[in-house]
Amino acid sequence: MPDLQSSIFTVVGKWAHKHQALNLSQGFPNFGADPELLNLVSKALEAGYNQYAPMEGIYSLREVISDKIHQLYGRRYDPDKEITMVAGATQGIFTAITAVVHKGDEVIVFKPAYDCYEPAIELNGGKVVPLQMKGKDYRIDWDEFGAAISGKTRLVIINSPHNPTGNILSENDMEQLSESLRNTDIMVLSDEVYEHMVFDGEIHRSVSKYPELAERSFAMASFGKTFHVTGWKMGYCAAPAPLMKEFRKVHEFNVYAINHPIQRALAEYLAEPDHYLGLSDLFQKKRDLFLDAIHPSRFTFTPSKGTYFQLLDYSRITQEGDVDFAKRLILEKGIASIPVSVFNLGNLDQKHLRFCFAKTDETLLKAAEILNSI
Ligand code: PMP
Ligand code: GLN
Repeated sequence: MPDLQSSIFTVVGKWAHKHQALNLSQGFPNFGADPELLNLVSKALEAGYNQYAPMEGIYSLREVISDKIHQLYGRRYDPDKEITMVAGATQGIFTAITAVVHKGDEVIVFKPAYDCYEPAIELNGGKVVPLQMKGKDYRIDWDEFGAAISGKTRLVIINSPHNPTGNILSENDMEQLSESLRNTDIMVLSDEVYEHMVFDGEIHRSVSKYPELAERSFAMASFGKTFHVTGWKMGYCAAPAPLMKEFRKVHEFNVYAINHPIQRALAEYLAEPDHYLGLSDLFQKKRDLFLDAIHPSRFTFTPSKGTYFQLLDYSRITQEGDVDFAKRLILEKGIASIPVSVFNLGNLDQKHLRFCFAKTDETLLKAAEILNSI
């Protein structure tokens, strides 16, 4: 892949570090994980769970995940055949794509898109069919989607809550997707790493909730996102048995098994729904604190509906491109964000920067002070 550049997270991360900017760019919390979870990991290490875990992941954790999905979305995945632990959603996404995309297959990707999908498709010989989401609020054009389906379409990738826009898929979106795929054998890869961060009384619509979609879908989750431990690289994939059988063929010979002591800890920790059901509240408060605090600024916004990202529109401040503006904010104002154009199709001129609000209140208020001065 001679044209592939370093990811924007690596690039902006280096700029931010070099200039010691307040870092609201890459998506990770700057506060710690629950001490109870950390304690459970220590206990697992001391108890000697330091050798290989089973290939699919430990059964007790897959069982708790199966219960969780059943309670939240109504579908019962068989822990034996339909759930596999992965070393982060990035690995799970790569594995799912490798398992089903063959040379010449087309994969529909909605833009802006998180940056790990397209390289994985291309490395597997697939062809990315990018569809730009429309308008300032980035809605999917389902007519365009219908027209983009061809005899070669193998897979569609969806992501809700959506990085970087903070959108969530609506009931109508899920219906349109189901309808468009009916009578095809196209599969769906559903990136749901922000499933527990949905605001203003809205709900997360997992593919697992919709039997017609669930039958053809890989659903991907990340504990890094849910438990404020992005450095652990832990997650899972849930899919019907025939899809999971193919997924495991790749997983077994690429990864084999993932971190054992952390799986032990998670099996216990995840059994308590309060450990993830409070997340939407936590991040809605942070979003609101941030948005209230930047009220006097010249940035404009639509409040994020999910994830821990907020887009800010800077078109009242300058007409320069978002990469240039993001760089200037680091150099001159000491604050780092992610320019959204790098995830869009072509040179769409939206003038949006993405800010991560998974930060302490103190960091968010400091960020607001800077943004209000621009
Ligand atoms: N998908 C999306 C939409 C993301 O934002 C991220 C970033 N964490 C991932 C997947 C990757 O998750 P993980 O860190 O578990 O690999
Ligand atoms: N998911 C994180 C984000 O969107 C970044 C993870 C990464 O750097 N690959 O900011």
